[in-house]
Amino acid sequence: MNKFSWYEAKSIEDALQQVNSTVSEELYQHTNKATVFKSGGIDVFDWVKEGLLQPQKIINIRNIPGLDKINFDSKKGLRIGSNVTLAELASNAEIKENYLALHQAVNHAATPQLRNISTLGGNIAQRNRCWYFRSTDHDCFRKGGDRCFARHSENGENENHAIIDNGSCVSVHASSISTALMAFNANVVIINSEGEKKTVSMDDFFVTASKDLAMENILQAKEIITEISIPAPAKNTKSAYIKQVARESYDWSLGDVAVVAEVSGNNTCRSASIVLGAAAPVPYRSKEAQQAMEDKTINSENATAASKAAMKIARPLTKNGYKVPLFEATIKQAILEIS
Ligand SMILES: Cc1cc2nc3c(=O)[nH]c(=O)nc-3n(C[C@H](O)[C@H](O)[C@H](O)COP(=O)(O)OP(=O)(O)OC[C@H]3O[C@@H](n4cnc5c(N)ncnc54)[C@H](O)[C@@H]3O)c2cc1C
Repeated sequence: MNKFSWYEAKSIEDALQQVNSTVSEELYQHTNKATVFKSGGIDVFDWVKEGLLQPQKIINIRNIPGLDKINFDSKKGLRIGSNVTLAELASNAEIKENYLALHQAVNHAATPQLRNISTLGGNIAQRNRCWYFRSTDHDCFRKGGDRCFARHSENGENENHAIIDNGSCVSVHASSISTALMAFNANVVIINSEGEKKTVSMDDFFVTASKDLAMENILQAKEIITEISIPAPAKNTKSAYIKQVARESYDWSLGDVAVVAEVSGNNTCRSASIVLGAAAPVPYRSKEAQQAMEDKTINSENATAASKAAMKIARPLTKNGYKVPLFEATIKQAILEIS
């Protein structure tokens, strides 16, 4: 581990000013950042320990006042400060009552110990966990190299990797909580060093690998996430989240699904929002499954048809063909849970 300096940010403006004075935009686009924000620090210190990041300066934004609040209003919806921990989210009664799939996703992420430290801002901004991307021995596409080691037809270890949108990088996004956030049409509030605020939908926050290999989200060097907000749930909204893992705890998703929909009295699905995690390099909204369920009765036959529609575009790699039936079964189960 290299030596670095530590800066304890007192406010958002203070944190952004520190970045201004030490880092250039180009440096930040690459994995070896000179200055880095640290919130919970789980991902940041993994990077440092793995030798992938040799920071000159770490700016601790974890203790900035005001970013640790959860506010729910039945008309305005939910606002979560970026420094709220996953443990705080997991135990929040209003989230459990009004945004069940988010409650379920948070409770199935990582471990109780990690949830005590991890923040929501850090969770959605964390980088992927592809073992080649995380290895200093493998200069893959995302690190400016000329190949994807996971894709290799003979010795690529790609069992955890993407089955959708996997034409370039085949990693999957590490945030399973984002699967539920996107299904609830959450927005990310970002502030830059000029003090300008912008609000982007989760769908626009993530950057697909086919668009830009260097980025997994739109965050720029001089920007901080201050809040994640979710609209108030429409009347009769029901939701469900299911995550498939190899081990019950301490494990990343092999495939997870969030379904949010308005369900009318006769068990009909209206305005379905269906998102798949660990299927593609970023959380993937399955428009195919959504369309298949629109104005349909929630029953086994229609849920099966929707899950098959979602997987029509899947292109498995050499070792992850199992993900297709895994997603088919999980999408079906999640849809049936909202009936
Ligand atoms: C073994 C293990 C299993 C895990 N399993 C899961 C899982 O199943 N599901 C899941 O969703 N997650 C999982 N995680 C992720 C974990 O829970 C953390 O959420 C994640 O590693 C980062 O959160 P953090 O607050 O520590 O972020 P940090 O490490 O502090 O930051 C991560 C990144 O976000 C940036 N950042 C942080 N806050 C902000 C902000 N406010 N504005 C702008 N940039 C910011 C940092 O600069 C850095 O680039 C797992 C982690 C481990 C180690």
